Amino acid sequence: MAVYLLLLGGPGAGKGTQADVLCQEFQLPHVASGDLFRDNLKRATPLGQLAKQYMDRGELVPDDVTIKMIRERLQQPDAKNGALLDGFPRTVPQAQALDALLAEFGGKVTTVLYIKVGETALLDRLSGRWICRGAQQHAYHLLFNPPKVAGKCDVDGTELYQRADDTAEVQARRIKVFMEQTAPLISFYQQRGELREVDGEQSIQAVTEALRAGVKAATAK
Ligand code: ADP
Ligand code: ADP
Repeated sequence: MAVYLLLLGGPGAGKGTQADVLCQEFQLPHVASGDLFRDNLKRATPLGQLAKQYMDRGELVPDDVTIKMIRERLQQPDAKNGALLDGFPRTVPQAQALDALLAEFGGKVTTVLYIKVGETALLDRLSGRWICRGAQQHAYHLLFNPPKVAGKCDVDGTELYQRADDTAEVQARRIKVFMEQTAPLISFYQQRGELREVDGEQSIQAVTEALRAGVKAATAK
């Protein structure tokens, strides 16, 4: 059966950082809704232009457009054995739509990995984050995870930049939106016995270890 791993966590919790490692290890494509929107933005597609209005303010892109984008992505051949979903779902209606979509494919959510990080640490991470211009949008941090060569991605050598929505004002809004619209998913998945909580305020490697153990336990069932 296909494996669908969900990464849940506030903005800056480390979802993208951990996804890079887990996807390699478990041979799953990394499906990150934020990366897909930024890719559309770069290519100036109508979807990108629409998403930008919300992203710039730290608001969520409407559910219908987001769900359609994920549906199309999960139908690509590289996702036939599953995927690691990073940043989707972010609302209860998105989670319900995902259930319906996976049921159509004959699958279901394998496990939900919740990377728990407090607000102070989220802000520290977002304010020092630099990401690369490569397709995989690798994340670095000025203090916590600096690149080997300043300003360049270790993996693909592309230039690093700060996201337009990583300003102090938009960061605060994104954290508030997470608390209001995404945090309800914690109990949504907890009630179904699908949530695994990991302490996200450890080193990157320690978080990876905890997540890896969670995936192994979930896939061994
Ligand atoms: P972060 O890594 O900081 O959590 P993302 O890259 O996942 O941020 O998301 C950036 C922005 O893209 C969000 O603030 C939101 O505007 C939009 N976005 C990403 N995923 C979703 C989603 N599942 N639903 C609605 N909007 C989304
Ligand atoms: P998300 O995708 O959840 O928004 P990222 O993976 O982009 O989060 O990480 C946010 C920032 O925090 C990045 O600058 C990243 O290098 C850094 N980071 C990620 N995990 C950790 C960690 N465990 N400890 C310290 N910094 C981290």
